[in-house]
Amino acid sequence: MKHIAPVFKKKSFHCPNCGVLSEQTWSKEIRTYYQYVKPNGDLVGGNYDLTNYQSAKCSHCEEISIWLGGKMVYPLSGLVEMPNPDLPDDIKNDYNEAKDIVSISPRGAAALLRLAVQKLCIHLGEKGANINDDIKSLVKKGLPPTMQQALDSVRVIGNNAVHPGKIDLNDNAEIAYALFGFVNIICEMLISQPKKVKEYYEKYIPENIRSGIEKRDS
Ligand SMILES: [Zn+2]
Repeated sequence: MKHIAPVFKKKSFHCPNCGVLSEQTWSKEIRTYYQYVKPNGDLVGGNYDLTNYQSAKCSHCEEISIWLGGKMVYPLSGLVEMPNPDLPDDIKNDYNEAKDIVSISPRGAAALLRLAVQKLCIHLGEKGANINDDIKSLVKKGLPPTMQQALDSVRVIGNNAVHPGKIDLNDNAEIAYALFGFVNIICEMLISQPKKVKEYYEKYIPENIRSGIEKRDS
């Protein structure tokens, strides 16, 4: 599914807290109540208003995002889509770690996503020693050109993050943000879709017909 990134004042988007495409209710300002205990034990409280801040409340999880000057300031990983649920767990961990740090370190996030893609190649049956060789091998096995470009984008940008390079990721954070979508697209094409088709095939095509098809193709 297409990721609808959160945009200021937009009525619905993929919630940065729960990841569901949901309706958002906007506040005009944020009012808070504070309370503290004085040394003599008296309880003191009062209001203060954050008139420059606005919030959007998700209709699904009821959590909020906080916005200042038209930009989301909480949660920090708000602009990044959730990982594809079909990603293997250790790769999902790398993805989520990258998501948590991308707003403060786009370079760190790009390096982690490169690591995620390296592990993904192993998951797809490659050796994992050299990511360049792994992608080459996948291309030989018939990897579609768009998937090759997605893999190579994460590889090149990730390399650039850890070696002296020409692209300054800290000045071009959007380059790092785009890589998250690429990792999800790669997973959708190479893991989720084959899994869905296989499940359907094994569930609804009778076994005798399947073995007939296998004989035809062998
Ligand atoms: Zn939500």
